[in-house]
Amino acid sequence: MNYIAYNSKTFRNTIYYNKLPQTEKDSFNILSFIFHFKINNYIIENLIDWENIPDDPIYRLLFPRKEMLNKADYDRIKMLVSLGMGQKELQPFIDDIRKRASPELKQTEHNFVVSDTGMHKGMYRNFETIINLCPEPMVKTCHAYCSYCFRWVMFNSKDIQQMSSYTNPDEPVEYIRNHKEIKDVLFTGADLMTLNTKTIKRYIEPILDIDSVEVIRVGSKSLAWWPHRFVTDKDADELLDMFRYIRNRGKHVNFCAHFTHPNELNSDIVKEAVKRIQDTGAVIRCQGPVVEGINNSAETWSTMWSKQINMGMIPYYMFIEADHNKESCFRIPLAESLKIFQEAQKLTTGLARTVRGPVFINDINRVLLDGTTVVDNKKYFVLKCLQSAPGTDHEGRIKLIPYDEKSKITDNLYNLFSSNNTE
Ligand code: SF4
Repeated sequence: MNYIAYNSKTFRNTIYYNKLPQTEKDSFNILSFIFHFKINNYIIENLIDWENIPDDPIYRLLFPRKEMLNKADYDRIKMLVSLGMGQKELQPFIDDIRKRASPELKQTEHNFVVSDTGMHKGMYRNFETIINLCPEPMVKTCHAYCSYCFRWVMFNSKDIQQMSSYTNPDEPVEYIRNHKEIKDVLFTGADLMTLNTKTIKRYIEPILDIDSVEVIRVGSKSLAWWPHRFVTDKDADELLDMFRYIRNRGKHVNFCAHFTHPNELNSDIVKEAVKRIQDTGAVIRCQGPVVEGINNSAETWSTMWSKQINMGMIPYYMFIEADHNKESCFRIPLAESLKIFQEAQKLTTGLARTVRGPVFINDINRVLLDGTTVVDNKKYFVLKCLQSAPGTDHEGRIKLIPYDEKSKITDNLYNLFSSNNTE
């Protein structure tokens, strides 16, 4: 199968667009003015059940949903479209809505890498032992776009791509060499696996010369969105040889596979892709967010973890959805996330105890929602800081916040873990 990507315009020329109920077509036509849409032939032919629209989880994972916009904005665009306005006339309205719908990233100043020579673009330090690297060719796209991803802002803007990435592959070397506490180098956001192997090699090779780096991590959804990358793409073998080469240079290869639903794990091609990656000595650890209307049930998570374990992969994290959508339509209440996680573990083999969750990742701390407790007849959520930014000492701290059945938010996790009180 050769890769064919569809955007919102070209998708409308496929037979699959005509399978959408009229209400879905209408909202797709409105929302795709605002949000970016990308899907490919493997997904539309294999992963979506077109007889089950709009409930199919993979459909919901890819197609924008009405709740992503507030009603007033949605109605305004709808009205303007009904008046016959085209893309050009609509652009000022689109820009205005996009601006207001753009996600706010909190506490990012703690993550920037600054040295004597100034700030290093495309390098981020979330935690003491890890550095995130964003080579310029990597930040541009993924094999398809997830509806819940905040990176639509970046996909939409060359300026943001340039501001948040680096072009010279040697750029990070000196900094990492001078920071021997950095053990893991993570390439993530958008997706390194969309690049050809030669380009990937150019950016990884200089890192392999740094003795203090022990792990090369790749965060990718390619196993779900385009498993052919590891099987039939013309440089698939070369890519797998690169993983072997990294192993032979003495580094661990951690492939962080982003899976959201067990249906992503069913095809023969994904099974073959997983096996081919594993044959190189790379370890696949799986992670993904719990998302409203896509995977918010214990059975779904248990099925997904069971399949991953059966395929030799390691369930690693269940994330609390980053909630970068202003309407908060993807995040579920904290109490529900916790219940899903705990029940899913009970339904699954003990090997699923390797997975940690539910975990917040979008704040400066990586925080585990570890359970609930009662103090003086009052119920609390128990939060534990698993990792914190360089220069902070939040790691290992435990905090209590008042339990609320419906709450989706925790306020500011950075401030919470900076304080010495218990709530
Ligand atoms: S694959 Fe990852 S980076 Fe790409 S759209 Fe999905 S969540 Fe965002």
